[in-house]
Amino acid sequence: MSGLRELRRTGLGWNSIIWQFGKKIDGLQITGGRPATPRQHTEKQRCPSVRMPRHHPSIFRHSDQAHCETDMTSAAETVQLPERPKGPNPSEGKEAKTKEKPPKNNNKGAAKPPKNSNDDATTDDPDAMFKLGFLADVYAERPLSEKIPKIRTRFPPEPNGFLHIGHSKAIAVNFGFARYHGGECILRFDDTNPEGEEEIYYRGIEDIINWLGFKPVRVTNASDNFERLYELALELIRRDAAYVCHCTKAEMKAQRGEADGERGKARYACVHRSRPIEESLREFKAMREGKYKTGEASLRMKMNLEDPNPQMWDIVAWRILDVDEKPHYRTGGQWKILPTYDFAHPLCDSIEEITHSLCTVEFENSRASYEWLCDKLDVYKPMQREYGRLNITGTVLSKRKIVELVKRGYVRGWEDPRLYTLIALRRRGVPPGAILSFVNNLGVTKANAIVQVTKFEQIVRQYLETTVPRLMVVLEPLKVIIDDLPDGYEEMVEVPFSKDPSFGTHRVPFSKVVYIERSDFREQDAPDYFRLAPGKTVGLLKVPFPITATSFEKDPQTGEVTCVHAKYEKPEDGSSTPLKKAKTYIHWVGESAAHNSPIKAEVRAFNPLFKSDDPNAHPDGFLADINPDSEQIYPNAYIETGFREVSKSAPWPKESGGESSTEISPYSIRFQGMRVAYFAVDQDSTPEKVVLNRIVTLKDTRGKT
Ligand SMILES: [Zn+2]
Repeated sequence: MSGLRELRRTGLGWNSIIWQFGKKIDGLQITGGRPATPRQHTEKQRCPSVRMPRHHPSIFRHSDQAHCETDMTSAAETVQLPERPKGPNPSEGKEAKTKEKPPKNNNKGAAKPPKNSNDDATTDDPDAMFKLGFLADVYAERPLSEKIPKIRTRFPPEPNGFLHIGHSKAIAVNFGFARYHGGECILRFDDTNPEGEEEIYYRGIEDIINWLGFKPVRVTNASDNFERLYELALELIRRDAAYVCHCTKAEMKAQRGEADGERGKARYACVHRSRPIEESLREFKAMREGKYKTGEASLRMKMNLEDPNPQMWDIVAWRILDVDEKPHYRTGGQWKILPTYDFAHPLCDSIEEITHSLCTVEFENSRASYEWLCDKLDVYKPMQREYGRLNITGTVLSKRKIVELVKRGYVRGWEDPRLYTLIALRRRGVPPGAILSFVNNLGVTKANAIVQVTKFEQIVRQYLETTVPRLMVVLEPLKVIIDDLPDGYEEMVEVPFSKDPSFGTHRVPFSKVVYIERSDFREQDAPDYFRLAPGKTVGLLKVPFPITATSFEKDPQTGEVTCVHAKYEKPEDGSSTPLKKAKTYIHWVGESAAHNSPIKAEVRAFNPLFKSDDPNAHPDGFLADINPDSEQIYPNAYIETGFREVSKSAPWPKESGGESSTEISPYSIRFQGMRVAYFAVDQDSTPEKVVLNRIVTLKDTRGKT
């Protein structure tokens, strides 16, 4: 009878699943009860993946922090880039335009998440973003041909932090574009900035990409190419397109037209720009050999100081790294000089023969230096195109801020379900397919998409609606004794797992003692109240006959109702017509020692971590915007016995991202608690107690309660 049972895995009982919880989740060594808290990070570290261009003076100044801040946390910060250089800027017009544009929604009239949903706010074509619009145009510019026999893209995160929801777009774009066109995508760790690079991030990034359902054709590192990049740098010098410069940072700034805090002044060449090629070759080799300390020398590209694009103002190609202080994660002390992102990125793309180099719009200016470098060296030139970022409001995504939240104990760790890192969303129970559906529904354009978390939750809810089974969960149990049922009475009641009959049904014990939601009972009846109250009749979902409350008991000390007595409205003549009719049906869990019912659980219901949509805008800092009620714990919740079947037959949904694997992870045990919310099992679960996370509510109740 049970559809779920057919899907059950052999040899993996509930206990063994639960037992795994404390051990290892997808290689991330997260221990039950104690969240993985990464080692302390400094402000200098940058968010993973999407780099801010180095050319931009404001970015230059605020450096890493600015990158993180602009990363995903605030719409205004992201789009504005307030301190632009004074000179004309090739992309200024375009960016200004995107600024005004509202986030584009390609959802009108489109369909829905998997199966039968009748909500028309989303598209159910997971490839929609590649068929029309920006990415279709990008493909049309450079389609498959004799010269381009295979589409190859890359996703280039920095291995210095966990990916967050904003990165899901970059992953979906790069991996999805390649997959859609029958090509391949490389995961390339951009390890040109050793600060903050750690093993845990390498593994974490690869793991989350797999979880989202993508497989890199291979995993590479920028550092794999250091020797080749060094050779190319020598070649660039030989071609009179690079020189070793000994100017200080301040001097370089001045040469680039910035002095006394003002920009847009006259730009000029430094004395080293015209030094003989042979001298630069010699000095560059000396740099590699360790002749200079950090800041004493760098290799600069000889570009065009007249160009309006700051990215063409003799940017740095190689700099000296203090390997004694911070050895490179992969190359250790082997390289005393390191290429910059501006030098390494285009050439790694070229070496790996990337056909379409897709990045976010802040790199629009960088396209000029990207192409300049490939042209100067006469190497294969990928096509760089830029799309808008995904920004989400109502949360913070910068590494520095998340570290602060962890350190101060506001959250359990990087994977606390209230955060929007991808590992946090995974732990909360958000299915990977829902994240991809979210990205797909926003569409891909050149405009930055600024999205509210409620929109995200709406898509998650729609996704879950038709894809996960339903169970009865009572958050705050109130005991109901049905007095006229004999002691030890037990009847197995058949309950469907879903409105969709293909999910099958299961049987739960109905007995003399059942538990209902405390909020489904009132001491005082009222005409507009339809649930249980003295004298009132209510149906218990799928139980043959309704019950009527006859009396209740109270704790004399607290005044709390401790127990409700009720009568079973079963006619004695054996007819199927109840003695009294119920106006409404409520969920319940029966008590049965024989069936180990109910199953005890702790339920964690999450509310927004911040009170406002823009925590960064709080005059006293983002911490002052913390919502004190961001987590509501129900320590004594009860789940019905169907939970065991749902656990064994996980993952739910059946096909979502990379979850159709053989190992059941707690977060993939998802279900709808009827009349309550969507839940997933948390890794803190133990054999004694299940811990559930609320993924999303059944409806968007934000601001209504
Ligand atoms: Zn110089």
